[in-house]
Amino acid sequence: MAENAPPAKSPRPPKAGDALSHAVHPANPAPLAARPIGKAKSAVRRPRIPYAKAEIAEIFRRFEMQRPEPKPELDFADAFTLLVAVVLSAQATDVGVNKATRGLFAAAPTPAAMLELGEDAVREHIRTIGLFRTKAKNVVALCRVLVETHGGAVPHDRAALEALPGVGRKTANVVLNTAFGEKTLAVDTHIFRIGNRLRLAPGKTPDAVEKGLLAIIPDAHLRHAHHWLILHGRYVCKARKPECAICIIADLCKAEVKTCDVPALLVPIEALADVRPPGQT
Ligand code: SF4
Repeated sequence: MAENAPPAKSPRPPKAGDALSHAVHPANPAPLAARPIGKAKSAVRRPRIPYAKAEIAEIFRRFEMQRPEPKPELDFADAFTLLVAVVLSAQATDVGVNKATRGLFAAAPTPAAMLELGEDAVREHIRTIGLFRTKAKNVVALCRVLVETHGGAVPHDRAALEALPGVGRKTANVVLNTAFGEKTLAVDTHIFRIGNRLRLAPGKTPDAVEKGLLAIIPDAHLRHAHHWLILHGRYVCKARKPECAICIIADLCKAEVKTCDVPALLVPIEALADVRPPGQT
């Protein structure tokens, strides 16, 4: 019975000798060590989203059915060439980067070879893509760190990756995901737009959208979510004019700009390649 009694309205002040009285009296907050620090941190509110858990699971189930094994559109042969390609891809198209890296990787397929090739030659190989001077400098500098600090290998470690010249969180996320199979999500312009437009993970910064998406995407789908969302943004939910009529999640989407409620036929993308023009999914 005593444990069901209502709490006293005005608790008496603590007396010396009261066991742990300092920890329970309102005038004396709990000692620091006893406070739920982790809870308070995770209690930081994310924006409410208009999707039920089952709807989010269904969105990613359809993405998986459409592209069971999504692949990046950058050409690479291993973790090193992936890293360089991603560094070069900032403010450039994948097609443009692939054109430039074809010759570059043939001339220098390893960090040591790239170092030997030198900044001037690297610059010549990549001069068709944006920011090529800075990128050439960064590529050679990061190869030097790979050779001198990591034995010529790309480190499987976020901090070590982000310490490389020209490598930020987004590039590290792509490498961790694509080269090492980690469940990371690199928020590029497409994912940032989708997170906000669909109200799946509203956020003012890529970090905020990344956190929001990581919190809602079912664990089983996290590994490939990065590629599904990029490809969906690139070919269907385009920046200027989303192609809702060919969207497989049109019935679930809660974007204000949506123009169609009927989902497109859900079949693996390869099966559509024969009947749709290139670039359409
Ligand atoms: S329905 Fe339209 S707005 Fe929604 S995800 Fe599909 S393409 Fe984008």
